[in-house]
Amino acid sequence: MSHFHYQDGVLHVEALPLTQLAEQFGTPLYVYSKAALLANFDAYAQPCAGRDALVCYAMKANSNLAILDLLARRGAGFDIVSGGELQRVLAAGGDPGKVIFSGVGKTEAEMEQALLAGILCFNVESIPELHRLNGVAARLGKRAPVSLRVNPNVDAKTHPYIATGLKANKFGVAFDDALATYRTAARLSHLDVVGIDCHIGSQLLDDAPLLEALDKLIELIDTLDAEGIHLHHLDIGGGIGIQYGEAGEADPVPVADYVQRLYARIDAWRAARHQGKPIKLIFEPGRSIVGNTGVLLMKVEFLKPGSEKNFCIVDAAMNDMKRPTLYQAWMEIKPVVPRAGVATVYDVVGPVCESGDWLARERALALDQGDLLAMMTAGAYGMTMASNYNTRTRAAEVLVDGDQAHLIRRRETVAELIALESRLP
Ligand SMILES: *Cc1c(COP(=O)(O)O)cnc(C)c1O
Repeated sequence: MSHFHYQDGVLHVEALPLTQLAEQFGTPLYVYSKAALLANFDAYAQPCAGRDALVCYAMKANSNLAILDLLARRGAGFDIVSGGELQRVLAAGGDPGKVIFSGVGKTEAEMEQALLAGILCFNVESIPELHRLNGVAARLGKRAPVSLRVNPNVDAKTHPYIATGLKANKFGVAFDDALATYRTAARLSHLDVVGIDCHIGSQLLDDAPLLEALDKLIELIDTLDAEGIHLHHLDIGGGIGIQYGEAGEADPVPVADYVQRLYARIDAWRAARHQGKPIKLIFEPGRSIVGNTGVLLMKVEFLKPGSEKNFCIVDAAMNDMKRPTLYQAWMEIKPVVPRAGVATVYDVVGPVCESGDWLARERALALDQGDLLAMMTAGAYGMTMASNYNTRTRAAEVLVDGDQAHLIRRRETVAELIALESRLP
């Protein structure tokens, strides 16, 4: 079931042709499908129905207020990584009581902001962070709910930049240090130790490493129980990977199957060792909620044939979509109105003055100047990583709901970009 499909020779998002959206809003343009977004959220939420579970959308994947608002109304919590993201949750009408705060470098100001807002939990990643949080909570006369991000040392077998659960990694507390760190946390007067979490990496197509991580967390929860430290929740971290459409790519495990397998293990464990006492399960999916809900729409400016390579120069660039140059990510490029005729192999590149400014390499496309292209599966880690490099204004964002298009972020102006700067007196 795709909410992006060709109809009468034109690529559509739900009921709207992308040609129409390009004309109305200009390019480069991010276009999202509301139906796809809600279906992706439901894929996690529905298998958890009737259980004590919370899906905390990892909003760094895409933090547009309209997207947060839709998810909040659907019951989502949020996984934040900065005070700025907390402000976005509040601005979008999200419930701070469903927010968990991840990240290795939380500042005092961010801790204070989150304590005053009344978030659900701080996912703490080091001993100095525990002490800092305890100090801030004491000063405010509050108690901070904490979970430790434990590094289960499981190989997620993903790109090194998005693998986070191994020892040689800045994230989390080493598995072997976790017990001692929990003891420290439990002794601090203004902390409530409530949970455990991990996040072993992103774009995992197979759930085996996640289930392995779950087993390690379960082992630790039992050890802590025996010490009198009783946890209320278990947070399994980010979601399952998604299909980008590259030839030979493995299929991701269906989210519902993954959730069922998690619960099978959790239920067996609780029944065996905890007399059926439930534990709250928290998910932090980002990519699998928004990735396939969005496309980056762009226009062909020039075709530049060469002796070694042919270039298709488009009006989107690495500042709009950083994943290819940052992770060598493969992103699918589709013509909005496919042409008959002979395809040429192009590198699709932007106008930014960097050789690293490429969006796709060696794609066979039949093109003409002025054609529209859609980069598919661009909804996650696209707009949130966009920059103003080369004084390029960031793309506008549109959300499609059936035959309605909503502008959810207008295009920036250069006047806005330079407004924060001053010349010398
Ligand atoms: C990025 C991140 C996530 C989301 O990961 P996805 O692969 O996008 O689902 C979840 N938790 C933490 C702590 C993260 O840093």
